[in-house]
Amino acid sequence: MSTRYEIAELELEALVDVIAEAGAKPFHAGQIYRWLYRRNVTDITAMTDLSLDLRTRLSQICQLSTPLVLRVNRSSDGTVKLLLKLSDGKQVETVFIPDTPKMTFCVSTQVGCAMGCPFCLTGKMGLSRHLTAGEIVSQVRVLVHHIGLGDAAFNVVLMGMGEPLHNYEPTMKALRILTNPNGFGIAPRRITLSTVGLIPAIKRLVSEQVIPNLAISLHATTETQRDKLVPINQRYRLAELIEVCRRLPLKHRRRITFEYVLLRDVNDSLDDSRRLAALLTDIRAKVNIIPLNEAPGIPYRRPSDERINTFARSLAAQGVTVMVRKSRGRDIRAACGQLIVDGPECSPAQDVAVRLGS
Ligand code: SAH
Ligand code: SF4
Repeated sequence: MSTRYEIAELELEALVDVIAEAGAKPFHAGQIYRWLYRRNVTDITAMTDLSLDLRTRLSQICQLSTPLVLRVNRSSDGTVKLLLKLSDGKQVETVFIPDTPKMTFCVSTQVGCAMGCPFCLTGKMGLSRHLTAGEIVSQVRVLVHHIGLGDAAFNVVLMGMGEPLHNYEPTMKALRILTNPNGFGIAPRRITLSTVGLIPAIKRLVSEQVIPNLAISLHATTETQRDKLVPINQRYRLAELIEVCRRLPLKHRRRITFEYVLLRDVNDSLDDSRRLAALLTDIRAKVNIIPLNEAPGIPYRRPSDERINTFARSLAAQGVTVMVRKSRGRDIRAACGQLIVDGPECSPAQDVAVRLGS
């Protein structure tokens, strides 16, 4: 087993310390970051503004892992989905969406997910393992390289496979790496973290160095309904989640997005829309309606377009800012909740009670 430092896992300050062992000065860390995140170089020996001697010494103490692209799917709408192989052979999916309205990378934070929402394919996989910070950031590296994005600005949404706040520390570290000005330098307002509502982690988030936009997967307006659709509600109740959101200190002009997956005859009535508007009173909120992306094995249906519009209009009439999320890449199973990796490493989702304890 190699005991070399993994550069992809290092924040800039840690990289400064590590390369000092090879006799490198602190500014060399900035150079390495620029090669890695701006010029997409994945091999230390190709970092040609470091002396050959330094490159050799660095290669002795460091390594640089990059996930392998196993499969590329291109949707007719321009969405690109990559299947990536990690260093231990596990696989994750990561998605590029060209115009929402800016370019957006949708990255995964776990292999699978433990939360078991019954309308989500990733939830059906159960949790295989958490991703490291480097593996989260590397999805962006690989996508930028694959798409040939150049210097164009882009958004990052943590809405791929997994529940980001269930993998708290690595996700926060990934955000610090993604926003470092020597690297991608992504502005925090361009990053959105979507969570199922892990209340202690949401409270913790507000004191982090990098605070992303927050999207809360609400999906239901009563405790009973949410217990079924979002099983973690049995532990972190809807009422408390809403209260925490109401008290969350938000920076100027920021709003919390509430995602609401619309399921035919389950949560798409006018009563639901009235309860939803009432819940969000006094919260700087916007609602993102996500009409269900249907999939085999998912026991729910997508409402008709007419029903979706009626629901959205009813919210708007009650003064709620609302948008209906256009589903991207459905033909390649890259849309919300459609990311799944089939394979021996994915055990089927276990009983909910077991998952809640993980
Ligand atoms: N685990 C996090 C982030 C990943 S899922 C979360 O749940 O928030 C990103 C969004 O896709 C969530 O709002 C989720 O509820 C939604 N989603 C999951 N399955 C879906 C499906 N089949 N159709 C539409 N949206 C889905
Ligand atoms: Fe996990 Fe999010 Fe899917 Fe729920 S919707 S199972 S939290 S990925």
